[in-house]
Amino acid sequence: MAVLFVILSVLGVLLYFSLSKIVYDAVDSGLLSRAKALATLVSNDNSKTEFEFSDEIMWEYNSPKSKNFFQIRRLDGFTLEKSASLKDSELPFSEKEARTYFKTILLKGAPVRLFNFHPPDEIENASKTGGHGLVIQCAEDIQHQINLLKRYRLTLSLSILSIMLISASGGFIISRKALAPVKDISDTVDKISESNLSERINVENVSKELQTLASSFNRTFDRLEITFNRQRQFVADASHELRTPLSVIMSQSEIALRKERSLEEYKNALTAVMEAAGIMSATVQKLLSLTRLSTVKISLKFETIVLNEIIRESVKLLSPLAEQRGISIDIVPVTEPFMVYGNRESLLELFTNLLDNSIKYNVPQGKIYISTRKETGFIVCAIKDTGIGIPEGDLDKVCDRFYRVDKSRSKESGGSGLGLSICQEIVKLHGGRIDIESKFGSGTAVSVFLKKGKDNA
Ligand code: ADP
Repeated sequence: MAVLFVILSVLGVLLYFSLSKIVYDAVDSGLLSRAKALATLVSNDNSKTEFEFSDEIMWEYNSPKSKNFFQIRRLDGFTLEKSASLKDSELPFSEKEARTYFKTILLKGAPVRLFNFHPPDEIENASKTGGHGLVIQCAEDIQHQINLLKRYRLTLSLSILSIMLISASGGFIISRKALAPVKDISDTVDKISESNLSERINVENVSKELQTLASSFNRTFDRLEITFNRQRQFVADASHELRTPLSVIMSQSEIALRKERSLEEYKNALTAVMEAAGIMSATVQKLLSLTRLSTVKISLKFETIVLNEIIRESVKLLSPLAEQRGISIDIVPVTEPFMVYGNRESLLELFTNLLDNSIKYNVPQGKIYISTRKETGFIVCAIKDTGIGIPEGDLDKVCDRFYRVDKSRSKESGGSGLGLSICQEIVKLHGGRIDIESKFGSGTAVSVFLKKGKDNA
């Protein structure tokens, strides 16, 4: 808008000055030819000056209403002749001005263009002045031209102003019309809040150009809704998980305190409280682990790790539990180290979780085999057990948060249904995947695919 204003103003000023130049040039050339015409009619010798003015020439100067004036002076300023149109006025003259120039002056308050003409030699010769200095002053009332220029200036300013007004209001109307669908979209987006995340922009009602934008907004809301619902479900499940051990703690303490109890009874109550607190603590620990994994991804330190070491370490950690249940763990020997690129603590957590499941859901005197192999781009570690297995219908759900196939068995062994979700998150962080194969009643094989580290042989 400002640029348009500057362009129009500059253009207007240029037009005004060129018109004003044309007008003044026209007046000046008229004055020049009239002065030259007068000069040819003056004869001047040493003793006297004579004028051969014909009536036709004088006609335009003699009328008192005429707008043309002339005055012929000697160089000392003495007036030899002047037009009747000047009446009692005189054209301004100073002795120092015995030269040729154009000037705009005020004659009795009226604007007048004056041509002060001091004829050069050849004109003087031609005008028979005999070389004696004369100044021929010709003037013209230019009130009409000035009025014309004033009118032009006014028209120009008004035109610029109206163009500005029209383009401003036009621009405003057009932009309002063009932005109306955007406003509709933003109104709908404003309406979408936590409580009505399912609201969507009606793509059909939006103009073609904005349909892509509306669709991408809708897709973002789809993703947000899924994430938000998942989060809501997670909070509900977590509260539910913690509620059961919490109510055990409350009821056991309440019963124990209701009246005087025997030492045995107190011991039993405290044991129940401790077990429930243990379950809560394990659940809270896993919840924290899950939250940490989804929030501190960027700050995890990644390095090249010998996977065999991690496996050996997790076996060492869980051996006491396996021995307790008479379960044997066999690591299939390897001839070379398998390098992966990852975070040491997370990988240790991954393998201890998987081994823990293989022990928990195994049969007494059961077996666990751990083997490692290379595949294109990946190191694959398979943990096979001879346990209870997972029913086919549950296979795709066991990685969901809080999902347990057999709730009572899982709870008995301290399971929270979060172990495999944590494993999934860890593997995802490492750009890998988990495959689970199982036969209900005879065993499970969990294969972990991890990206190969650079230093593999
Ligand atoms: P939990 O903490 O209950 O073990 P997980 O997320 O680790 O939770 O496992 C989810 C469910 O998958 C378990 O409750 C169990 O029913 C089943 N599951 C996991 N690993 C095995 C396995 N090796 N053998 C049999 N069932 C398993």
